[in-house]
Formats: sequence, structure tokens, C-alpha cells
Amino acid sequence: MRDTGTAVPQGEFAPSPPRRVGDSTAPILAFERVSKAYGAVVALSGVDFSVHRGEVVCLIGPSGSGKSTLLRCANALETIDGGRVRFDGVDLQDGATDVRQLRRRMGMVFQNFELFPHLSVLRNVAIGPMTVLAAPRAVAEREALELLRKVGLVDKASVYPAALSGGQQQRVAIARALAMQPDVMLFDEPTSALDPETIGEVLSVMKRLADEGMTMVVVTHEMDFAKRVANWVVVFDRGTVIEQGPPQQIFSNPQVARTREFLSHLGWHGESLATADPLVVKQRM
Ligand code: ADP
Ligand code: MG
Repeated sequence: MRDTGTAVPQGEFAPSPPRRVGDSTAPILAFERVSKAYGAVVALSGVDFSVHRGEVVCLIGPSGSGKSTLLRCANALETIDGGRVRFDGVDLQDGATDVRQLRRRMGMVFQNFELFPHLSVLRNVAIGPMTVLAAPRAVAEREALELLRKVGLVDKASVYPAALSGGQQQRVAIARALAMQPDVMLFDEPTSALDPETIGEVLSVMKRLADEGMTMVVVTHEMDFAKRVANWVVVFDRGTVIEQGPPQQIFSNPQVARTREFLSHLGWHGESLATADPLVVKQRM
């Protein structure tokens, strides 16, 4: 058995019920014909989809298809060339919009954690509320401990990131993003840089967040996670959305040949899907 620090509370992994709220509520995040080019490279073209409160929307598709660009446009780290991005009804392109204020309401988790190496785990989680929200240190640290408990790392509060495994660092990064009490969490391939044996603990934390009702947009190649946890899947190819729908459609009955190709391509290279499925093989002996 591998020492992974504090065990993450293991939920059982029954499929989450479909939770698409549909068009009856205003989306928290809406992309309307969004286009973006880098010089001659078209990164996004006419991208249309929306995210409702409480949903988990997974973005899948080949490398270079525009998924990361889309996430950066979502929180206005990137400008767009055409179309519109609305967050909670507010147009991010409107010059009157306080983009920094809105960005605080979106937690971002990257492939490479990007923790502060010179700060303890506790300080990494507490620093945002202290500096950005002017929370008193005692309050910020108390809440940080609570979040570390939630991601199963309360016993690592006083260590530095370098002492942690990749999976543990990513769980700290999730706690850090949650500390800002975001309305939406954006994940960009949160498990792609991890050793296979630490992927499951990160996906477990994300699954629990989803079950608690957190609104999440997740770029991932973990098709099993998308199948079980997403209630809406958006398939990207070369900067466009080629198909979107509930996971049952995308994974069992894709409407577009290119989606089938992409998934079967993953199947070839991803026999780990069957053998190392972290959502299944995660109960440690
Ligand atoms: P994905 O996340 O799906 O792999 P990206 O959004 O990273 O795709 O990239 C989409 C396209 O935009 C690719 O062709 C990529 O090379 C290009 N691209 C992304 N970011 C930049 C950038 N900062 N400068 C130039 N080209 C970029
Ligand atoms: Mg990317």
C-alpha cells in the first residue's frame, strides 16, 4: 500500500442523477458564438453552450481543440474576438463590467497546481481570502483548515507543497480555489500531470464537490469521470463544438462521427480506462 497521507473519504460511485436544469433557469455561464484567434490560428469559432447552477459540464476533445482557451475566456483571462460570454447575466465584454470582481467568483484549478512553494499548505489556502477579501488571518486560517479537512489533508496543514505528492498538491489547489467561495469551479485537466495512483484521490474530491452541488466546468480526458459525474458533455474539435448532450448520448450514442472517432481513439491509447479506472479501482487495500 502506498502512503498517500490522509485518506480521502471514499464515497460510493453510483452515477450522479442527471441534473441538467434546462432552459428554465438563467445560465450562470453562457457562451454565445464565441470566437478567438491567435494570429492565423483559430482557437475558437462560434462556440455556443451554457452552464446552469449545480451542473457539472465536462469539456472533452483532442489536444489543441480550444478547451483551455475556452476556460480562459470564461474568466476573462483571455479576450475574445467575436460573440459573447456572460457570467451570471453580466456581459464580460462590456467595458463597464468589473472583470476582476467577477473572476473572484470563479475558482480555477490548473494541470500544474501552481501553489506558492514558499508558503505552507495552510497559508496557501488562507492567502486568497486574506489578501483579496481582507479576511482576518484567524478567520481565514480556520476556514482553510475546514477546507483541508474536506479534501482529506488537514494533517498536512503545516508542511510545504514540495513535501506532498502531486495528487495531494492538487487537492490543496482545489481547497485554495474553494477558499474564495466561488460560484463556479473551472478545472483544466486537473489530473493530467499526476501519477496514475494519485488520480483517483483528486477525482474523488471532485466527485464529492459535484455531489454537494458545486457548479463545475471540467476539461478532462478522464472519460469515466465524465460519464459518471457530468450531466452535460461538450465535445470540441478544432475550435468548434461538434456535439453536446448528456453523457448517455455522448458515450453510448454519439450523433457525430468525429465524436465516435475521438472516443475510440482514446480507447486505443487508454486501456488504462479499463484497468486503472480510478473511480472503480480506488478502494485501497
Ligand atoms: P486544448 O486546451 O483543447 O488543448 P488550446 O485551447 O490550448 O487547446 O489551444 C487551441 C489552439 O489555440 C491551438 O492551436 C493552440 O496552439 C492555440 N493557442 C492556444 N493558446 C495560444 C497562445 N497563447 N498563443 C498562440 N496560440 C495559442
Ligand atoms: Mg488545454
